[in-house]
Amino acid sequence: MKVSIIGSGYVGSVSAACFAELGHEVICIDVDEEKVKMINAGKAPIWEEGLDGLLQKHSQKTLIATSDYEYAVANSDLSFICVGTPSGEDGGIDLSIVKAASASLGAAIGKKEGYHVVVVKSTVVPETTEKVVLPIVEEFSGKKAGRDFGVAMNPEFLREGKAVYDFMHPDKIVVGAIDERSGFAVAELYRGLDCTVTRTNPRTAEMIKYVNNSFLATKISFANEVGNICKQLGIDTYEVMDAVGTDFRIERRFLNCGAGFGGSCFPKDVRALIGKAKGMGYEPQLLDSVVAVNERQPLRMVELLQRKLGHINGKRIAVLGLAFKNDTDDIRESRSIPVIAELLRLEAIVTAYDPMAAGNMKRIFGNITYCSTSSEALSGADGCLVMTEWEEFGKLDREFEGMKEKIVIDGRHLLKPEKLTARIDYEGICW
Ligand code: NAD
Repeated sequence: MKVSIIGSGYVGSVSAACFAELGHEVICIDVDEEKVKMINAGKAPIWEEGLDGLLQKHSQKTLIATSDYEYAVANSDLSFICVGTPSGEDGGIDLSIVKAASASLGAAIGKKEGYHVVVVKSTVVPETTEKVVLPIVEEFSGKKAGRDFGVAMNPEFLREGKAVYDFMHPDKIVVGAIDERSGFAVAELYRGLDCTVTRTNPRTAEMIKYVNNSFLATKISFANEVGNICKQLGIDTYEVMDAVGTDFRIERRFLNCGAGFGGSCFPKDVRALIGKAKGMGYEPQLLDSVVAVNERQPLRMVELLQRKLGHINGKRIAVLGLAFKNDTDDIRESRSIPVIAELLRLEAIVTAYDPMAAGNMKRIFGNITYCSTSSEALSGADGCLVMTEWEEFGKLDREFEGMKEKIVIDGRHLLKPEKLTARIDYEGICW
């Protein structure tokens, strides 16, 4: 099949490369010319395991990139909208990029002869596909949905860092369509992937994505709440969760307490669902608490450090880990951001290290020192905060010797102080 993918970020570039791998002809559309050039040169615009290889394999053969909507739509049967849906100022979803992409797509569909399917893959709150995207495409194309073009919603569940693997090995594919023809076309694209396929309406597909992410976020905030209580009681919360997680109704995963969840999805998606609920007059108390616990958690890291150091101003603090999780360079809503902001507010001198994400963090904090190794960041430091679960941080030992005061607050349950040669003053956020 012939597919165009609008937006070449994490979801768009991975979907494009994987659809090409599944045997489809793919055209990527992006307004960022730099990304267009990179994809056409067979290079991944973001770091994601396996993505470079797939782009090298398919670029200029069955995968090309352009900024020209008209060309892409004329030469494809379906277009996936994969642009960002950030939080607006009030925390609700900001649909301005989706609207802009829908308008460009509509204009291109207006010039095309023949049927085309519009597929929303961006995470959008229930009713967006039918009440926002569909009317914009109708307006700009001058054509009728259901007759001249199809409309579907196909949420994406991939995890950053494992995105290529997840796309090729999904546990579910959800297709919400306004009619059988659109839904069938989308489902056909995934033929050959072995998983549950849920065919439904667009609103339900949109809601499935939010419920999926909100439930996982709720599990994490629940684990953090329990962890905070356990710490005060001197109980090992990991031992508690290991036992509780054996209950098949609960499941052990996502019950690790730590510095909280970040990333481009969980925080903004929970806020978007809250915004949608409040907009309809419903107070989502549980979801509000999920966010509140998550906002408090990283600040607990600084509080624990402060308790040990007495005061923080003028102290040199090493922050290990800037990415929101390991194996990615993505720093969106990383828990390191509120931590660094708080350290700077308290007038600490911050040295930071991350194997991949320093370049991105420089755009937010230009006034801290970025180091090229953990040792460099730790050298002469009065305290250390472990913020991201990079495997290499779990192997640190002698590197701590270079610290002035060897205070280490672990936000990710990575270090085993009793097994280290270095004598450190260790404390876990919830243990
Ligand atoms: P992103 O910001 O990495 O990428 C968006 C891309 O769209 C950028 O390359 C940007 O240049 C491009 N773009 C912006 N305006 C455009 C326009 N008018 N026309 C064409 N291209 C345009 O975003 P992302 O992380 O890939 O997320 C995209 C959507 O997928 C969001 O709704 C997100 O919630 C959802 N999602 C993300 C993930 C994830 O792990 N990142 C997982 C599942 C779902």
